[in-house]
Parts: sequence; structure tokens; C-alpha cells
Amino acid sequence: MHYTNESVTIRFDSGTELSRSWLASDRQRAQRVLSNHANEGLMCLCTPTGVPMHVVKRLGAYHIATMPGRGHHHALSCSGYIPREETSGLRNYADKAISRANGIHNLSVAPGANERMPFDHFTPSSALQYLWDLAGLNVCTPKTVENRNYRHVGQSLLEASALVRINGEPIRPYIPLVIQSPLSCRTVIAQVRRVTAGRYDNAIALSADRENTFWVDEKQWECSGLADIFGPFSSPAKTRGVWIIGRLWRSPSGNYKLFDLGAISTTESFLPCTTTTKELIGSLVTKQRRFYVCLPYDAVSDTSIPAVVLIDGEAPKNLFIT
Ligand SMILES: [Zn+2]
Repeated sequence: MHYTNESVTIRFDSGTELSRSWLASDRQRAQRVLSNHANEGLMCLCTPTGVPMHVVKRLGAYHIATMPGRGHHHALSCSGYIPREETSGLRNYADKAISRANGIHNLSVAPGANERMPFDHFTPSSALQYLWDLAGLNVCTPKTVENRNYRHVGQSLLEASALVRINGEPIRPYIPLVIQSPLSCRTVIAQVRRVTAGRYDNAIALSADRENTFWVDEKQWECSGLADIFGPFSSPAKTRGVWIIGRLWRSPSGNYKLFDLGAISTTESFLPCTTTTKELIGSLVTKQRRFYVCLPYDAVSDTSIPAVVLIDGEAPKNLFIT
């Protein structure tokens, strides 16, 4: 999940400094302090230059709020951070494609390409991007890259999955190593180890799972993200770093079949990438930069979305592939 640094210092114009965690630990004290400083400006000191904020009164209580349009200026680890809408393909979805209530994100998901914006549903591939984003796995810092491994990624995806419903249903994912058996699962979320072409169905073997084989027929293959990444059904290419999502069905004879498949490619650091962004992302990792990968979702034609946003400078910097 996103790492949040609660001990960030805030400084009022009068010079008073205190930490967010100190404020959060005692609500009545926080209300007293904020009402005393209600007419002052303040700075969140999560970045070297600080980010201006102000005290607002909502529903009878005082809050610290970020100025409009400044949410993305906070450090990623700051609880004031809000990703800039322009850097994500999420803004290209209609209201009915996604709803959020009580911390649960409900996505409307359907296979098949989205025709025109605003999209009224997510494809399975873009739903997987959503989980990646929610799990904080598109964020890269030298420290996260060092600590990120298959198990961490699986655990983060499991936690993110618990917050998401697909078409109103819980995801109940099978994630090898993190979840022991696919038996009572509804969905597979996993890294592909190998695809073997078969006469009727292709066999997918998963990383961290030496036991089970998952079958995909040609019709499902052709209308899914798999064809885009692995190529033709009859001769799938060897491709590393691919993660899939698929609805799981167990046949009466005990075979696992996958439907409504989506897929994304990732780098060795598990950062989402495409053939065009892979090199840029790899070089930023090598240079130990801090950045997040922007997710286009289904809006691959939206060229206004940057490839990545650098967040280790004084202000975020959008990078595009030209
Ligand atoms: Zn901040």
C-alpha cells in the first residue's frame, strides 16, 4: 500500500511548528490548535520548499486542507498528496464506470475494447492497472525497488483487491504463494511463467505455482489483453514480466479455465510498462530517481498523459515519450 509518513511537520505563518501525527493523536487538542490558527496560512514541510495549505471549517470542525490544484505538489509519502488528474487515464471514464463508497471501489468491467471516451466500463486489463495503482505499485523510489519482490507485490495486490468490487462482486483472488489454493477463488491475479500452445486451449503456468495449469481457449485469447502481449494464439511468444487477471472457472473434471482476461507488462522492478516506456523506466530505476509511472488505462490514444512523473525535484516533472 502507499507508504504514508505521518510525522511530516507543518508550520503556521506565526512560526508555530507541529507534526501531523501530533495533531492526529488527539482530536480535541487538534480542534483547539486549529481554531487558534484558523486565520493563518501554513506550510506542509514534506518537500524542501514546502506546500502552502490553509485551515478550513467543514461541518463544524477545523481541518487542514491543501489549496486547490496543489495536491500533487506534496511529497508522495505525505498524506496531503493527491495525484494530478491529468497524469492518469482514469479521467477518461464516465461516472457509471466507477463508484466509491465507504472505502470500496466498485468498477464496472467488461471484456472487449472500449470504443470512445468517456468509457462506460473498464476492460479487464485496465482493471488490473487500477489494482496496481491502488496497491502503490506504480511508485518507484530507490528504497521501494530494493524491497519489492514477488511476495510483496502479491501481498499488496491482495490488500488492494479487498478494497475493490468488480461488477458488484468481491474479487476473491488466487495469487500464488500469497493464497494457497485456487479452489475457492473467483479470480486469478498472477504472473505468467510460461504459455504453451495447445490444440484447443493454451496452457498458462504461473510463477510460484508448480501445481496448477490454467487453460484459455482461442476465443478468450483473441478478445483479451493476452493477444496484444503474447501475439497469436497458435504461437505465443516467450515474454517475461506479464501479469494477468482472469475470471476463474473450475470444470466438473477439475480443470481450471480462465475467462475475461486482462494483462499488463511489468519491468523487473514490477513497475507497469509498455514496449515504448520500458527503456525509460529502466534507466530511471538505474539512476535511482523517484517517480511514478502514469497509467493510461484504456485511453492509450490520450497523448496528454505523461509516461512517468518525476517526484524528486522541487516540483513534479512530467516526462513524455516523444
Ligand atoms: Zn505535504
